[in-house]
Amino acid sequence: MHIVVHKTKCQGHARCWAQAPNIFKLDDEGYVLPGDINVAQEDELLASRAVRSCPESALEIDRTSAARFEPADMQPSAGEA
Ligand code: SF4
Repeated sequence: MHIVVHKTKCQGHARCWAQAPNIFKLDDEGYVLPGDINVAQEDELLASRAVRSCPESALEIDRTSAARFEPADMQPSAGEA
């Protein structure tokens, strides 16, 4: 997963950091640091929650560069069980 940081929208609420301090880094004033963030697969759920927690929509999940994963894709095909 890849997270796009819209630095100009950030208002320094630090909610992203509160959810996932290992993923989101803040400056001395509590604003998220600029630059896109690559998230390890095992941290994707946590990162998604953090993105949703941002009241300014300053964080955006970009899945275009990675394989898209949808729970519906996990349905077993015929013959599997
Ligand atoms: S939650 Fe949103 S507004 Fe607050 S620091 Fe993080 S990116 Fe910025």
